[in-house]
Amino acid sequence: MIHLSTGNLFRDAIQNKTPLGVQAQSYVDAGKLVPDSITIGLVREFVEKNKTVDFIFDGFPRTIPQAEALEQQIAEVGANTIEKALFLEVPQKDLLERLSGRRVCKNCGAVYHVSNNPPQAEGVCDNCGGEVYQRKDDAPDAIKTRLEAYEKSTAPLKEYYTGKGLFVSINGLGTAEQVFKRISPFLKN
Ligand code: AMP
Repeated sequence: MIHLSTGNLFRDAIQNKTPLGVQAQSYVDAGKLVPDSITIGLVREFVEKNKTVDFIFDGFPRTIPQAEALEQQIAEVGANTIEKALFLEVPQKDLLERLSGRRVCKNCGAVYHVSNNPPQAEGVCDNCGGEVYQRKDDAPDAIKTRLEAYEKSTAPLKEYYTGKGLFVSINGLGTAEQVFKRISPFLKN
């Protein structure tokens, strides 16, 4: 399966200062959702290039118009269907703890946490020696904005996918390995 993280695509575009990155940067840094027209265009292009394979979308769709656009594109492409919509449920206090302590490698994207999973040498990635930094949108104000955007624009997708018989709630508490075990039965290959 191809793992498509829209957040990673935006961060790469911002780092490489592409036209998409320039358009998206102020939204991403502030923790706001990037407008649907930009996000849908980005995913559309990616799916178009890789349409013969299975995808796992990560962080997409985040709004009902994005979900509708995805369905429309899938219908245009033909054979594919949406198998499931997995929601990782984590209480707000745990989200705050995870996000505020998260650190990421600028070079390879490896994810750390200041207390749960720090790199061996502070600020240096164990995998590749790259610089480990804090995402701008993991600062307190941006976290607040992101949680508000989630409640307003993304949470309604639970009902949307329940109506389509695709919604799956996954307990997102615990270690990455524990959560992966809960998700894997839903990933077919
Ligand atoms: P993430 O890495 O999934 O936490 O995404 C980081 C940021 O990228 C979000 O806070 C948004 O600014 C932007 N972003 C990622 N995916 C989407 C999406 N599906 N719709 C709108 N904005 C998005």
